[in-house]
Amino acid sequence: MIYLDYQATTPVALEVAQAMRPWAEEKFANPHSPSRWGAEAAAAVEVARDQVERAVGLLGGSVAFTGSATEALNWALKGTVENAPPGRDRLITVATEHAAVLDTCEWLAGEGVDVTILPVGQDGLIDLDDLRRELDERVLLVAVMLVNNEIGVIQPVAEIARLAHEVGALMLCDAVQGLGRVPIPEGPDLVAVSAHKIHGPKGIGALWMRKGAEPAPIIHGGGQERGLRSGTLSPALCVGFGAAAKLASERRDQDHQHVERLWGEVIEALGPGWTINGSSAARYHGNLNIRRDGLDAARLIADLRDIAFSLGSACASGSGRPSHVLRAIGLSDREARSSIRFGFGRYTTQDELVDALSRIDAAARAQQDIAA
Ligand code: PLP
Repeated sequence: MIYLDYQATTPVALEVAQAMRPWAEEKFANPHSPSRWGAEAAAAVEVARDQVERAVGLLGGSVAFTGSATEALNWALKGTVENAPPGRDRLITVATEHAAVLDTCEWLAGEGVDVTILPVGQDGLIDLDDLRRELDERVLLVAVMLVNNEIGVIQPVAEIARLAHEVGALMLCDAVQGLGRVPIPEGPDLVAVSAHKIHGPKGIGALWMRKGAEPAPIIHGGGQERGLRSGTLSPALCVGFGAAAKLASERRDQDHQHVERLWGEVIEALGPGWTINGSSAARYHGNLNIRRDGLDAARLIADLRDIAFSLGSACASGSGRPSHVLRAIGLSDREARSSIRFGFGRYTTQDELVDALSRIDAAARAQQDIAA
């Protein structure tokens, strides 16, 4: 199989699997229990926390582990609303956010929160003047992702955070697709990340919180994460996340150069008739989302079973609904259904990428020959 779906998830790094192994096999102690074995597990969790904090790279805050980035985003949004000072009852977010943000905002709107959803241009980026117009003293939080999971575009997060702070609002950044791939800019007060997008295990995420901006808990119980998040942590998952974060920090330049080389190859290998969805410049280059007139993307995926690539996002793929992100950049339903997404990175080779692209190009042309 040629795996080109790095935005859905990434292959687990060998170093990560090796680091997790003792914690998955013999070291089963509860990291919250006072025994010597518990203390050893707690120490391993703290090393992992430090590794994730270093990979996030922001100063003045700390990380709490969660069960996923989806949980981290739910917590950031709902817990910030829970802590809102009187008169701060507005949330601003963007039409191209992940469902973990959009659906949570929709739920909060049902609870009486005033939610504004900013549009994006054809390039997938927000217009900062739109944000300026919406910001007022009632805004509690502005939630904008760093790298889009479907079209890879990079929002101007530092500037967005600065504008939010000018009216006393907080800024939440979904950096799930950014961690380890692009620097996380200074500015956000809350940052959600996930291990499985950086060659770590599934089932663990984290919320980085600036000191003083910690949301109220949404999961109640033993208060294991500084009283803010309850539930017994899995040392194996924390250690895996830590090892993946450490590797991402150490390999940052190498991974970046590799992705840039692959992008260059992809752009060269792309035959005529394809259009890139979203900005090519303000983009993480390990994401290519392209469309072709008249292409039946679902059929293409079914025809090329040994190449893993995607329609829009993994979440939208199963639903049969055209991607909300592609709709937000102005594509028709038809154009959205003619779009495919490739994600590549650390373990993708140039040969497999070029091979996959030429087969995809040939299969797409064959569809059109049959249709003609
Ligand atoms: N945000 C973005 C941008 C994502 O791509 C994803 C995963 O697809 C998530 C949030 C949710 O992350 P998790 O799988 O850890 O819940």
